[in-house]
Amino acid sequence: MQLGLDFSTPQLVRVTPAKLSTWGDCPRRYRMAYLDRPAPPRGGARAPSTLGAVVHLALRALFDLPTGQRTPERAAALVDKYWSSEGFRDQEQVRRYRDRARAWVADYATDLEHDGTEAVGLEQWVSVATDRIVAEGRVDRIDRRGAELVVVDYKTGRKPTDDDARRAPALALYAVATERTLRRTCRQVELHHVPSGTVAAWRHDDASLRAHVQAAEATAGEIAEAAAELEAGGDADRLFPTRPAPRCGSCDMRRSCPTGKAAAPEREPWAQLEP
Ligand code: SF4
Repeated sequence: MQLGLDFSTPQLVRVTPAKLSTWGDCPRRYRMAYLDRPAPPRGGARAPSTLGAVVHLALRALFDLPTGQRTPERAAALVDKYWSSEGFRDQEQVRRYRDRARAWVADYATDLEHDGTEAVGLEQWVSVATDRIVAEGRVDRIDRRGAELVVVDYKTGRKPTDDDARRAPALALYAVATERTLRRTCRQVELHHVPSGTVAAWRHDDASLRAHVQAAEATAGEIAEAAAELEAGGDADRLFPTRPAPRCGSCDMRRSCPTGKAAAPEREPWAQLEP
């Protein structure tokens, strides 16, 4: 069994927000996704993930265009370019959501025409080392506003609130890592809900960012400890317990997890489409 944690810098554990979140949800899923080799087979595509990926790709491509070419028509055409039907129920559902996604991204482009957004990073890889971890990840978009940078994360599912932006560990770590990587102050984090055209935002201060970093360090410590015990021959199921919950119904590892199968019936791949 190989370990997915990277100890390339002796005392520092290399983590991403996705890894920290997976561990927080279910340590067993963490083990299967990041440590078990060969990796267990994953479940098939789910429509909400497909839809989110298409919208992310279209918006990424939109911002690759010169400012004057970011028109609603080009935006809608980019949804067509990157469309995938994986995980949808049938052609009728595909048509409905493809039309919706075209409208969402076109409306987003319309708003852009007037707000003077200056994107300085697209799917930018950022990284920061603290005393205990190296936190890194890919930010959907980094904007420059005045003298500061802003972390922008696109959302296509449930409409988020400002409190979601405040509490999101990933956004806080991205802000710290963005500031360190691009060497410019970054305190503002935003969740751009593309279907509604709304923005949930939070402005962090030093204390709130420090609290998020400390929480990430504590979680990374738990992961590293479990991984080290596993490598030393510890009991894998004890070190990485299951955490059965309704989410087991859509967990991509459930076919290898008897506990999860018993905890919740399997959800259809399109079950959590919103709105
Ligand atoms: S099915 Fe549930 S318990 Fe099993 S790995 Fe997935 S989230 Fe964890």
